[in-house]
Amino acid sequence: MFKEIFRHFSQDIAIDLGTANSLVYVRGQGIVISEPSVVALNQKTGQILAIGNEAKKMVGRTPAYIIATRPLVKGVISDFEVTEQMLKYFIEKVRKSKLSFINQPRVIIGIPCGVTEVEKKAVHDAVKSAGARKVYLIEQPMAAAIGARLAVQEAGGNFIVDIGGGTTEIAVISLGGLVIAKSLRIAGDKLNEDIKNFAQEEYKLLIGERTAEEIKIGIGSAFPQKEKLEMPMRGRNLVSGLPEEIMVSESDIRKALERSIKQIVDEVKITVEETPPELLADIMSKGIYLAGGGSLLRGLDILITKETKIPTKIIDDPLTAVARGAGMVLENLDELQEVLAETEELEPPK
Ligand code: ADP
Ligand code: MG
Repeated sequence: MFKEIFRHFSQDIAIDLGTANSLVYVRGQGIVISEPSVVALNQKTGQILAIGNEAKKMVGRTPAYIIATRPLVKGVISDFEVTEQMLKYFIEKVRKSKLSFINQPRVIIGIPCGVTEVEKKAVHDAVKSAGARKVYLIEQPMAAAIGARLAVQEAGGNFIVDIGGGTTEIAVISLGGLVIAKSLRIAGDKLNEDIKNFAQEEYKLLIGERTAEEIKIGIGSAFPQKEKLEMPMRGRNLVSGLPEEIMVSESDIRKALERSIKQIVDEVKITVEETPPELLADIMSKGIYLAGGGSLLRGLDILITKETKIPTKIIDDPLTAVARGAGMVLENLDELQEVLAETEELEPPK
């Protein structure tokens, strides 16, 4: 009885700490926060000026000493303090909205697979010092698979590819564990970079990160498209120094992205080759599942289907899969405990 009341006041939350976007799921409520993983810093004083949406708005529009940093680079915490501040901001935001000052939350947080023990501990400690009572870690592809409602606890094989901003995570899951797990540091950010480089090499045009991303989302593709898509690309001509606008087509951009896309697809193929035959038989009938924002690139599912000969589909709502999956674990902690990567018990007592 007492425990029940206690539980009621506790705001247990699940966090998808992505390199591009962070999402927060509150038990019994669903996803309540979805904001870019960006922190605006005053470089002179080290002071944090804004976090999330507000910080992203400041990018490129502020004096030079105000910089936007991402706490996570390529899936790894690059700045511990900034990460901790961002987590604190999210946790506080949830607690304020519910006036639940009574209890510290238990937190499940998604981490990229293939991070080292030191990196795991860094995430764990950052969440803890941001105010969590207890911290559980879950590998992001496991959470994404649960979010996609795949039967991860059964003996069959599940193949999931989560393409985010900084990393592409590829995993084969069976019996509640990762049979194969890979993390490739080529994902959405790299594709933006490819478009920037293309603009510079082909047209001597300097474009910003945001423009590159808009072009990618607007007309980018991994496989030839039926409609002829094109879009104006605005930037500064590096020779004249003046603003310039150039029309680029879907096929131009596809060529610019080709190399990185091939690296992602090749890694998927290698993983298929490494999959134990029994599990592969399941996967051939169930298919390969794509999650993460990067999976929305036009024609990527078709290309992977063609290259692996395994039907490939994008899961519903791919950007929220990790948060929803981690949330489902939070709601059913007793049944799903085995899917967690690691718990606090491993930490030496203080
Ligand atoms: P992370 O988990 O690393 O935070 P997300 O799963 O949130 O990443 O995905 C963010 C990435 O997805 C960004 O690189 C973004 O540009 C890309 N993205 C989002 N929508 C699309 C789209 N429609 N087409 C291609 N890429 C997209
Ligand atoms: Mg992600």
